Amino acid sequence: MSMLNMLHRAGILARTSLTYKLDSPRAVAFSLTHCSKEESANQNDNSSAETLDTPKVEARPVISVETSIEYMNSDAYKQTYGDEPVWKPYKRNHKGMFPPKKTRRTCIRGGNISTGNPCPICRDEYLVLDHRNIKLLDQFINKYNGEVLSYSKTNICQKRHKELLVALIKAKDCGTITFDLPIRQYDYSEWKPTNN
Ligand SMILES: [Zn+2]
Repeated sequence: MSMLNMLHRAGILARTSLTYKLDSPRAVAFSLTHCSKEESANQNDNSSAETLDTPKVEARPVISVETSIEYMNSDAYKQTYGDEPVWKPYKRNHKGMFPPKKTRRTCIRGGNISTGNPCPICRDEYLVLDHRNIKLLDQFINKYNGEVLSYSKTNICQKRHKELLVALIKAKDCGTITFDLPIRQYDYSEWKPTNN
């Protein structure tokens, strides 16, 4: 076999191993656990194609708004987040120095979390964006100017951000939330020119 042929074959091998690695880490992790389980039953029978089956994850439970509101006032919530907003301890993973302008489109596909680092709302199923859940919505409003915080600051995915905007509009219409700014008293005599 010529040298060129050898190189060609090595290239194909490298590419196939690359495509194997490009699978999502979650799928690979699941396939590994599947692999180790099945290996104990019948060894050396499983090919790599079988272990890369779609992982069977239990569907996320649907939490009602009432439960979510209860959770927001519970000790479990306080132990998890303390007094900080839910998006504060979250860190976005990205390649390079600067994060992409937009957050990901959605963290949940087909009823399951499809990413290794779901956004602060998606990772906690007890956080439900609803116009009645005022304590949660309050964390996404700038207290200085009453504006909705950008997703580049809160790092929630685009789908949840849209839900948040809808919930905020609903809450505003229902009057459950107000965008009032704190009244400040200024002493204008400090700035007025003195006429002597
Ligand atoms: Zn999300």
